[in-house]
Order: sequence, then C-alpha cells, then structure tokens
Amino acid sequence: GGAAANSAAPVSAPPKIETQVTLNGKVIAITGANRGIGLGIAECCLVNGASKVYSIDLAEPGEEFHTVSKQYPGQLFAISADVTEEKTVTAAIDKIIEESGALHGMVVNAGRTNHKSALDFTQQEIEQLFAINLFGAFYCARAAARAFIKHGVKGAIVFTASMASYRPNKRVPSAPYGASKAGVRNMTHTLAMEWAKYGIRVNSVSPGLVNTAMTYWVPQQPDWEQQLKYYGGFPRLAEVQELGGAYVYLLSDAASYTTSIDIPVNGVIGS
Ligand code: NAD
Repeated sequence: GGAAANSAAPVSAPPKIETQVTLNGKVIAITGANRGIGLGIAECCLVNGASKVYSIDLAEPGEEFHTVSKQYPGQLFAISADVTEEKTVTAAIDKIIEESGALHGMVVNAGRTNHKSALDFTQQEIEQLFAINLFGAFYCARAAARAFIKHGVKGAIVFTASMASYRPNKRVPSAPYGASKAGVRNMTHTLAMEWAKYGIRVNSVSPGLVNTAMTYWVPQQPDWEQQLKYYGGFPRLAEVQELGGAYVYLLSDAASYTTSIDIPVNGVIGS
C-alpha cells in the first residue's frame, strides 16, 4: 500500500530493515531514465515496490525503454522535458502529480560528458556541460522540492554525481565534467540543510565506470581490464543494476535520518 509516503518521518520502533528498504506505493521521477543508469534505477525502483516511475528525458524513448516499460504495464512512463529549461521540468512534475496524485522521490540523473583536454574545450562545450550537469540538476531538485513542499510530502532527492567529482578520470579527464559533478555534491549539502525543515532529504550517488553509452571508450582502450586491475578496482565496468541498491536505499524509509551524504559505488576506484 501507500503507507511509505513520508520518508523523513521519525521511526521509533526497532525496524525490520528489509521491510523498510522498499519503495512500496511511492511515485518516483528520474531524469534521463530513457536509457542507461536512469533506466536501470527505474527498473530497480519498480522491482522494489514503486507504484509508478516517470522518466523525465529530452530524447524519444527508444527500444531499451519500451522493453522495460512493457514488463511494467501502467507503471513506467516517459515525459519529455529539457533539464536545462526549468519551466519544462516544472511542467513535467505538475503532469506527474496530476496523473498519479503524488510525487515521493526525485532522482536527478540526466547528464552528459565530453572528454577533451582543458585547453581544447570551446566556451560553448563548457557551458553545455554545466548547463545540463549542474544548472539542470539545480532546476530539477528545486522543482521537486517545490512540489514536495506544496503537497506536504517529506520527499527524497537523489543526485547522480560521479567519482569524477572527487578526482579526475586518469585516462579521459574532463575538467568541466568533474567540476560540474563536484558542484552537484556541494549543492547536495546546501539543499539538504535548507530543506531539512520540510523533512526533505537530499543525497547523492557517485558511480565509477558503468556499462552505458557514456563509457563506450573504455573497451576501446588496449588492456582495459588489466588497467582497471592495476588501479586497484574490479576488472570490469559496473552494470546499471548494481547501482540500484544505493538509490533505492536513499529513496526509502530506511534512510529516514540520512541526508547530505554521497554514496560512492565505484568498484574500489572505478576511474
Ligand atoms: P546516458 O547517456 O546513457 O543517459 C543519459 C540520459 O540523459 C539520456 O537518456 C539523455 O537523453 C538524457 N539527457 C541528456 N541531456 C538531457 C537534458 N538536457 N534534458 C533531459 N534529459 C537529458 O548516460 P548514463 O551513463 O546513463 O549517465 C547518467 C548519469 O550518470 C549522468 O549524470 C552521468 O554523468 C552519470 N555518470 C555516469 C557514469 C558512467 O560510467 N556511465 C559514471 C558516473 C556518473
């Protein structure tokens, strides 16, 4: 049922944790969930009880999305919006609440990267990365928070940051990407502080290297598995489903007193 709407409400009896790490009855929005990590999180949310999941994405949903949505009839939807345009995100959230009656969790995940040496980036390329990864993340978090406040929901916001927010990827560094993701983690702390009084929790997950379109370049490297091993990590990329635990936990009532943190999911080093 829909008992689990207030994830920042106090829990006073010793909880059976497995009954808490669930999204039973919750409506979750995920930006950039038409494919890749976002779609993987969407599946994990649905497997773990979410009643409805909405992907807020710029692209037309493709084969990958339709394959998953067919498995969850009436539960997984795509809504078009551009995270760099705040109005379109607000409109998407209004539509979700109008259709489903509620919003309990928002995963701010849409992002792009571009690997170049710092000297080679054009101003436009730098601005585009910040527009999506940092300003867009701000607009999405704010649109969700406004909806939570308006409807009295103690909602959860989870950003997809990156291990690149801690340190550069050694093989394909990207100064604007890393800086935009570091901005996301910094913003997590400020938003968590400002919105604590509403019972809204704000956290992030930092993936390492995940098997999506974004990491097409990894298997193109000679001896890449050996290289990952050399840097002390698992000699493979993460599958998107392996990130699900961190997101589902942070969205769930098991994390009712957890805010302003980052969970790295990076196979030791992952970059
Ligand atoms: P992806 O390219 O497979 O998916 C990104 C999705 O975001 C796409 O569906 C795209 O249409 C959407 N999107 C892009 N710009 C948008 C915009 N302006 N408005 C709305 N939607 C937009 O990438 P992914 O690997 O799934 O990455 C998801 C997130 O994870 C990103 O924030 C990325 O920076 C982060 N990340 C990825 C990795 C990795 O190894 N793949 C590692 C660390 C962090």
